[in-house]
Amino acid sequence: MTETCERTATDWTNIARELAPVDVIEEPVLVKKRSRDFFWYSPILNGQLKKCFGDLVAQPKTREELAHCLSVAFAHDVPVVLRGGGTGNYGQAVPLQGGLIVETTGMNRILEIGDGFVRVEAGALMSDINAALKPQGWEMAMFPSTQDIATIGGFVAGGSAGIGSIANGALREKGNIIQLKALSVEADPQERVFDAEDALQVHHAWGLNGAITEVTLRTVPTRDWVGCMATFDSYRDCYAAGYALACSDSIGRKLCSSVEAPIVDYFPRLKGHLRDGKHLLVALVPAEDMPAYRDLIAAQGGVVDLAMTDAEREAVGIPHVFEFAYNHTTLQVLKADRSATYQQIGVPDPSDADSVAAMGVRQGDDLWQHHEFARLNGTVVAFELPIIWFTSEERLREIDATYEAGGFPVYDAHTYHVEGGGLKNTDYRHLAWKKRMDPKGLLNPGKSRAWEAVQHLSPEDIEAKAMVQYKD
Ligand SMILES: Cc1cc2nc3c(=O)[nH]c(=O)nc-3n(C[C@H](O)[C@H](O)[C@H](O)COP(=O)(O)OP(=O)(O)OC[C@H]3O[C@@H](n4cnc5c(N)ncnc54)[C@H](O)[C@@H]3O)c2cc1C
Repeated sequence: MTETCERTATDWTNIARELAPVDVIEEPVLVKKRSRDFFWYSPILNGQLKKCFGDLVAQPKTREELAHCLSVAFAHDVPVVLRGGGTGNYGQAVPLQGGLIVETTGMNRILEIGDGFVRVEAGALMSDINAALKPQGWEMAMFPSTQDIATIGGFVAGGSAGIGSIANGALREKGNIIQLKALSVEADPQERVFDAEDALQVHHAWGLNGAITEVTLRTVPTRDWVGCMATFDSYRDCYAAGYALACSDSIGRKLCSSVEAPIVDYFPRLKGHLRDGKHLLVALVPAEDMPAYRDLIAAQGGVVDLAMTDAEREAVGIPHVFEFAYNHTTLQVLKADRSATYQQIGVPDPSDADSVAAMGVRQGDDLWQHHEFARLNGTVVAFELPIIWFTSEERLREIDATYEAGGFPVYDAHTYHVEGGGLKNTDYRHLAWKKRMDPKGLLNPGKSRAWEAVQHLSPEDIEAKAMVQYKD
């Protein structure tokens, strides 16, 4: 479906010259590589986006260089797509209309580590931040399982939760994002500061309404985490144990994920460490809580097959346990077979393991279950990221309909619009800020369905629509 993608008729050699002293990449093969993210998880998005490419990549190393990139783009009216590590799943960082890709990974300084917070440049890698925090007794309150390649700016602009969310909630929850700074796209780009809850105006906006320069996130005291894998005879019991662990007041945990047995067969690096053919509960538990964790697993009918500190894990060459959780679970299967895909499903009553397991049976053999537990507004929630053996869009939508009919909401992973997926409603506050920060609509064009309808309005009129939405 190439009509999704357009190219700009611009003199890019001239723009590359004007961008100096900012480093640029003009080599088409390398520009194409940086035009992709993990949209190929979805056969639907793959069909739509695989031929969408930017025209030029800029690699600013400072806020001033980033401002220069935005100013040049503004002068030439060219689209701009911000890019961190390019690990988004919905084509968030894919240029739909060609243009300038601004890769932020050169802006990676850790600026300040304080009591309960870290302030960093947007292009810093999550794993580098965690590594810098640990010796000072801290760790990030949450991070995505892609921490080795994902940037903090990309996480805040494109992500929502991660390892740590079972203890500390989603990114959007009060106190998790302390401050964001972002540049506007104007002749003379201005940096705006978004404090505390105002940061939600920029969070999860997919780089549509400002180029994030600096991020201050909450940190929590670090602990000696043990990577744990327990196995169960039934998926129902595995899920129920996950829920019990997620709800436990006496056991600390920063990861809790249940994985149906056929998926575990796609984890070759765990062969010999787990009982064959069993359902898997993946967790990260503090060393001092291990006796209580072992008791809980036994009481739930499971067996602890593996419990290793980072040093022990590295010694036997096993990846982090979180590389078998969140969207890494899907990746492990896709590494072996590209006909797999996934979906994002809410669980209406996470305590009801019978309904969860029954839904798996109802869906049939082309769907394998995988759940993540998290805490939202203080309440334990579960969401499902099942493996689906893709045969047709029709069958995928039938699966969606079966979930919806059972009261399990579907947050579609197969759309490149910001209003799909986790954000089912239009966020008019995002769009009001887009109007303020990006008056020409150059940032990540084509990703918001609603923008077309409101771009002619003033920021205040767009914001008023948010008021009506909340009243409704
Ligand atoms: C295997 C796998 C596992 C994953 N696990 C998780 C997980 O646990 N939790 C989770 O939330 N997500 C997860 N994701 C999704 C993704 O990894 C995260 O959203 C990640 O944090 C994105 O960071 P990134 O640097 O790769 O961003 P990119 O993919 O480069 O960008 C993401 C979005 O942010 C925008 N952006 C990037 N930098 C800036 C900036 N400086 N200013 C403004 N906009 C910007 C981009 O334009 C794009 O729209 C996973 C994805 C994969 C493939």
